[in-house]
Parts: sequence; C-alpha cells; structure tokens
Amino acid sequence: MVPGLVLSLAKPERKCDDRIEGEIMRKLLLLAMLLLGTNAANAAPTMLVHLLGTGGPELTPDRQGYATLIEAPDELLLFDAGRGVMQQIYEQGINPKWVTRIFLTHLHSDHIAGLPDLWMTPWFLLGRTAPLEIWGPPGTHKMIAGMRAMYGHDIDSRVDRFNTIWGLEVTVHEIVPGKVYERAGLVVTAFAVKHADGDPAFGYRIDRAGHSVVLSGDTTLTPNLVTAAKGADLLVQNVIAFSPRLTSRPEMQMVLAKLTTPEQAAELLKEAQPKLAIFSHIVKKELPGRTGDDAIIARVRLAGYAGPVQIGHDREVVSIDDKVTVSPPPSTVGLPELDGK
Ligand SMILES: [Zn+2]
Ligand SMILES: [Zn+2]
Repeated sequence: MVPGLVLSLAKPERKCDDRIEGEIMRKLLLLAMLLLGTNAANAAPTMLVHLLGTGGPELTPDRQGYATLIEAPDELLLFDAGRGVMQQIYEQGINPKWVTRIFLTHLHSDHIAGLPDLWMTPWFLLGRTAPLEIWGPPGTHKMIAGMRAMYGHDIDSRVDRFNTIWGLEVTVHEIVPGKVYERAGLVVTAFAVKHADGDPAFGYRIDRAGHSVVLSGDTTLTPNLVTAAKGADLLVQNVIAFSPRLTSRPEMQMVLAKLTTPEQAAELLKEAQPKLAIFSHIVKKELPGRTGDDAIIARVRLAGYAGPVQIGHDREVVSIDDKVTVSPPPSTVGLPELDGK
C-alpha cells in the first residue's frame, strides 16, 4: 500500500447523517480498508498524485479515460473525469463519496464522460451528502444543466427522505486564468492553453508547501505551459504520436496540431526542466502497447531531451516531497466491496 493513502481512507465524513441506513456497516467497512492501508511509520508526503486514467478517447486494454487525483492532508482534488473514473478512485482504496471537488481542463467528452457516474452513484449508493463543486471553462454551467436534464428520470425517482436532493447539488465556478482555489496552504492556479476546437481550455498548477504539480491538460506546445511548468516537481503532460503512415495523412494534421507531439514535449522539457515529467492522456495511433510507448520516449530523446521523463500507467501514484517517486498501482487484493446499503 502506498504511504499516505491512509489520508484518504481515514478522512472523516464532512457531513454525518445518522438517518442513512447502513452507516455503521459503512464505517466498519472503511475501518477495515483503513487497517489494510495503515503504515504509521511513513509520514504523509506533501502531495500524492494518482494517475487514475492515462488514456485519451481511444479504447485500449489498459488505459481508462483521463483523470488525475491530487491528495493532500484533508484534500482530494480531482482533475478531469474521463471514462471509468469512479472505479479507478475506488481501486485506489479511496471512497468516491469523498471526491467532491473537481477541476475540468475543458469540455471535450473524454474529460467528462465519467462525471455523471461520480455525481450520481456515490450519492445514492454510498451516502454522499455533500454537493459537488466544479471548476471549469466557460460553458460548464450549461454542461451541468444538460447533465441534470439527462438524469432527470433518475433524480425524480431516487430523491427521497434517505437520499435528499442536497447531495446532488452542483456548485459551478466558470474560471479565468489565475488562482482558482486556495485552502489550508494548497493553491490551484489555472492557465490558458491552446487546444483548437477544445478551447477555451486550461492547464492547472497545484502548489503546496514549496512543491508543485503541473497538469498540461489537452494542449499543443504553448508559452503559458512552459512558464507554468518551470521548475515543477512533476509535470503530467499530454502526448500524441502516430505511426509514420498516419502522421503524413492530411486529415490527421488538425488532430496532431491540438496536442503535444514527442518533439514538442522535448522542447518544452528542455526549457521547463521539471524534476519529473510523466506522460498521461496518451494518444497513440498505430503505435500499440509497450513498443509504442518506447517509440514515444525514443522520439523525445532524439529531439534532445535527456532528463527524467516516463510513460504513465493507470493508477500509478507519484509521491511529491523533496524526492519525487513513482509507485506501482496499489493492489486491489482484499479491497472490500463498497456498497453503502
Ligand atoms: Zn482529451
Ligand atoms: Zn480535448
């Protein structure tokens, strides 16, 4: 178990609602999860970065949709909510009902496909009583209104005295570049990026106790990203790479132009020099599996960047402190089934 996961498992509920059936059972369940994860000898790191999903829109056997969870003491901040996000949070040993603060980079479907699941299911199944709070680009209000409409039937049928409407509320903040969140020494800053038909799109920088994590979001190489990533402990960077056959096709040029190629990543990394860069939101065509991953890193090296860079994998956890270390996905062996009723 990764040191620090205890933070999330031990987190007290923000709102205790004793009326909800199964509460005692749920607490026992979480206690069991806590015991599985306890490692008192390890102090909590400044931040943990859970690479929940490292894929783009493509279907691959081993990558869920793009989502990244930042964990700090009393903080669980989710950045984007791609396909499968709720399952991935659970498999990290974290109860999804505690993930209520969500930052969206932009509104492409591969970044919000998992949002309705995370909104509805922990509410009616796991007893989430806190509303969601969402930060996103202009258009987020409209998207959330559409989500509510899409689930209108389910809302009408499930809201009752046990599942009150309060837990389904969503507070939306449509953001502009600058500081968008600050709490207990943790600061989230948004910066504008360039994503063509995905604009307005943002990247995020998360700072805490002299350490920083930068999420590129979906963008091509842009000066704002270089500035934000300068000296960061960790840069979580999108990448796009096609086979030579597809790279030369005219209809692919628009796609290649709205994300970051390995050569552009090399340029960015040479300039920004983060302690570690990890590719996530990995968009590959005709470059399957490990061989394709190796081809991406080889192209970065060929373009002249020799520093620390690696391919991200789903559910890896990066510990941010004076050292930046990557741990493999936590085991799901013995993970209890999670059902609040
Ligand atoms: Zn995307
Ligand atoms: Zn996009």
